Amino acid sequence: MHKRATRTGAGRHRKQSVSPTTKGRVALVAVATGAASTAGAGGIAVAEATNAEVQAQPQIELAADAAPVLSNETPQILAIAEFKPMANLNEQINKAIQYNQERVAADLAARAPQVAKPAEGAFTSPFGPRWGTNHNGIDIANSIGTPIISVMDGTVLESGPASGYGNWIRVQHEDGSVAIYGHMETLDVAAGQKVTAGQKIAGMGSRGFSTGSHLHFEIHPDGKTPVDPVPWFAQRGITIS
Ligand SMILES: [Zn+2]
Repeated sequence: MHKRATRTGAGRHRKQSVSPTTKGRVALVAVATGAASTAGAGGIAVAEATNAEVQAQPQIELAADAAPVLSNETPQILAIAEFKPMANLNEQINKAIQYNQERVAADLAARAPQVAKPAEGAFTSPFGPRWGTNHNGIDIANSIGTPIISVMDGTVLESGPASGYGNWIRVQHEDGSVAIYGHMETLDVAAGQKVTAGQKIAGMGSRGFSTGSHLHFEIHPDGKTPVDPVPWFAQRGITIS
């Protein structure tokens, strides 16, 4: 039994070493078949072309007869006067560089985020009824100082103390919507300042009516009525979870 077991093992081992060779053969056959069919198709094309070329040959000879007439004009090709002088080469290069710099800038602008997540952290409280009132935004919790990000391009309407919010920042976007950020410990922007999507505008805090360090975020699409920010973000490709 012991010997047979050993032999079986050896046999198995041999089979494994044979296997790649078999695979190699299959691959070779596939390549050969591919090559054969390509050659076959090419062969047919050549065969068809041969007949067509035989009939087209007189026309080709007519075209060749016209060539000597053109060759009399050959010296004109050497007339260098028609080439532009090198004097404005720097100007041309500068224009090309400027053109490409503009293209790069436009490309980067096109790839910049249109909408950004307002903060990284734990989604701790949804929009809706809460504590006998309406929670007009969402809460994202993280440590004090966590970057608070402008969600869109816009203009800062207010940045400073506000009842309940501790500190707030209100940003009006180009589409008329207004974002409100609350409870921040530090404020990086001032009223009237332009901000861009993804720009840090504040540091997270726990000021005002707050039970711990978090961002309170509201979005008012018409500028004055808060809606649930979660679907608003989802429509813009950002998941709050
Ligand atoms: Zn809140």
